Amino acid sequence: HRADQAMYAAKRNQTHGWQLWGVDGAGDDELRADLVVDVEAGQISVVYQPIVDLRSGDLVAVEALARWEHPVRGPVPPSTFIPLAEEAGVVHALGMSVLDQATRQVRRWQQRLPEGRALQLSVNLSAHQLERPALAAEVTEVLARTGFDPRHLVVEIPESAVADDESAAPHLAALRAAGARIALDDFGTGYSSLRHLTRLPVDVLKLDRCFVAELNGEAEGSAVAEAVIRLAQVLRLETIAEGIELPAQATELTLLGCRNAQGYHFAAPLPPERVDELIGASIEAWPHLPPVVPPRV
Ligand code: C2E
Ligand code: MG
Ligand code: MG
Ligand code: MG
Repeated sequence: HRADQAMYAAKRNQTHGWQLWGVDGAGDDELRADLVVDVEAGQISVVYQPIVDLRSGDLVAVEALARWEHPVRGPVPPSTFIPLAEEAGVVHALGMSVLDQATRQVRRWQQRLPEGRALQLSVNLSAHQLERPALAAEVTEVLARTGFDPRHLVVEIPESAVADDESAAPHLAALRAAGARIALDDFGTGYSSLRHLTRLPVDVLKLDRCFVAELNGEAEGSAVAEAVIRLAQVLRLETIAEGIELPAQATELTLLGCRNAQGYHFAAPLPPERVDELIGASIEAWPHLPPVVPPRV
């Protein structure tokens, strides 16, 4: 087997020796094998992106995002390693490791925050995980083990994962029955039919950042964002806007009636120590935090 690997590596060097790994997929097999080892060894870490209430500026939730640092190649982005984990069949193990770490961590933050100030946790699930019959039971088991109240968990599923058929519905219903809420991630890019949407057990629409990037103060630029926010209001769902990078985008989303948002304008995904500091500052300032954007009048 080792000899095979050496042969393949030599072949790759013959054909692609002049190219960097990843540019044409050369090196993917090794990278995938290394990922499997690291997932199994618990080497996936978690960063947390703050989600804020646009009207008050309060930190209301964090989204857990997986991080992988390859010993030789350095940090590998999720857009590379999540598909590799799916191919290798370890994306569920990866997701459960993120859920385990994040629920322990957020529970500690919840315990620091004053009574009445809940901190929600969003965790991403891959479409592949929806194929597991016991998914909801497995999620519940982690929550029981880490002592995390399921009512503070939001499970994010890419809209594209539920677009084609209704086979996701029973899973989503089971997760909801366990107390969690369901968010459709990257909403607006997954082509689910609107008829389909009203039949799925869903609580939150996450407006994809490409629609936030189009906001420019003109009607055309805000058309899709506005339509999604209205749709959510009519269906009594929450909206979280993704990828806010500019103050003007935060203001426009607030005026359109969007409640919650995340993006580099507020904070990038942060290591837990940095969120510790934010929580400390937020406890000191509470309840007199200045609003991030002027409240709607
Ligand atoms: P996502 O769930 O839509 O997460 C939001 C992504 O947008 C994150 O990328 C985040 O770093 C990035 N982002 C946040 N604010 C901004 C902004 O203002 N501008 C821009 N341009 N980007 C922003 P990240 O961490 O690279 O993750 C990419 C995707 O990988 C995630 O997209 C999610 O689909 C997937 N992913 C990450 N962690 C996990 C995981 O634990 N499990 C699974 N199944 N998927 C994960
Ligand atoms: Mg997400
Ligand atoms: Mg997203
Ligand atoms: Mg997105």
